[in-house]
Amino acid sequence: MAEVVLTDVTKMYPGDVKAVDCVSLEINDREFVVLVGPSGCGKSTTLRMVAGLEDITDGTIRIGERVVNGIAPKDRDIAMVFQNYALYPHMTVYKNMAFGLLLRRQHGAWDNTLGFVVAHGKWKRAREERREIDARVQEAAAILGIQDLLHRRPRALSGGQRQRVAVGRAIVRKPKAFLFDEPLSNLDAKLRIGMRAELKRLHRQVQTTTIYVTHDQEEAMTLGDRVVVMKDGIIHQCATPYDVYERPTNRFVAGFVGTPPMNFLGGRVVRESGGLFFADGSNRLAISTRHEPLLKPFEGRDVTLGIRPEMLHLQTDGSENCRMSSQITVVEPLGDRTDIYVSTPDHPQIICRVEGRPRVEEGAALALQVDMDRVHFFEPGEDGRNITLGD
Ligand code: ADP
Repeated sequence: MAEVVLTDVTKMYPGDVKAVDCVSLEINDREFVVLVGPSGCGKSTTLRMVAGLEDITDGTIRIGERVVNGIAPKDRDIAMVFQNYALYPHMTVYKNMAFGLLLRRQHGAWDNTLGFVVAHGKWKRAREERREIDARVQEAAAILGIQDLLHRRPRALSGGQRQRVAVGRAIVRKPKAFLFDEPLSNLDAKLRIGMRAELKRLHRQVQTTTIYVTHDQEEAMTLGDRVVVMKDGIIHQCATPYDVYERPTNRFVAGFVGTPPMNFLGGRVVRESGGLFFADGSNRLAISTRHEPLLKPFEGRDVTLGIRPEMLHLQTDGSENCRMSSQITVVEPLGDRTDIYVSTPDHPQIICRVEGRPRVEEGAALALQVDMDRVHFFEPGEDGRNITLGD
């Protein structure tokens, strides 16, 4: 087991494509870190550089005590699980899992002609190694619940079972780190959720440093001890799932994490009758005393108000200065909760998520109470800084 440390790592592809831009990241021993971001943000390239499958243009990568920049993938002591599983179709599950270890075995039983005594000694050692390999395969199979599948070939397995074998092949190696590249994206939604929980349990059990790549923010949030949100080859935030959700560093992170996504309303900070307000054409919302000192410097300036769907309430018993008038466009019942899509003259779509089954009708007017203590304010622009976090 080991920590993995990236320092100012950059990757240029031919054609002047900067896939990864000066990324620094410290992954602690035994930690589960998820790299997440939209397609093309550089997450796979980052993982592949750790694996040694891509050269590093600039910077250093260290695994444990060793800088691995110039070290071949097979000598990095890492195990990678890919999206397509990459199982050998002609081998049984057992052989698929044992194969990597067999390749590493230094001593074949009769691999030289130096005479019986030498060969006999090697044979004994080979037998011990085979026992060790068998024990490791059986142990991994037991952890993953695939003992009954060891004699099967991959084509006789379901997607979920193949995925388990691919993970099993990584576990038997007892590597310093696991690298997962979108390992669940070929599975259907239900199975994906099941495997997600299994991977989490597995990590708790084997406690190996893990770097996991996905484009799915929900997968990232549920799996990671820490989540690294990337865009355009840059890390925008690296924090625990709760921090990323509750304290997004900028508008991009705030919008990327959370379903339904955060609502963004463009407007201006204005001062009226001694207080600070957020105003767009049709709404005037009082900025809470908690946020006032941070918003003061923005008086008269444009900002973006970020409201998560659960920060909008139907009970309008709070301050009138925190209320928004809207019209319901769509009601989506989800069983235990309901998503209500509304519009205002300035914003064609705002999503509100409420518990249970509210009595609301499409087309009707709806007053929404905004939890102004919990909203966020961002500087203008796609990646606008979260003003509410302070400096
Ligand atoms: P992600 O995994 O986040 O989808 P990648 O790491 O695969 O993103 O790619 C990051 C950027 O690098 C993208 O713009 C992609 O088009 C580019 N890229 C990836 N591989 C190559 C390659 N072999 N040659 C040129 N450009 C590449």
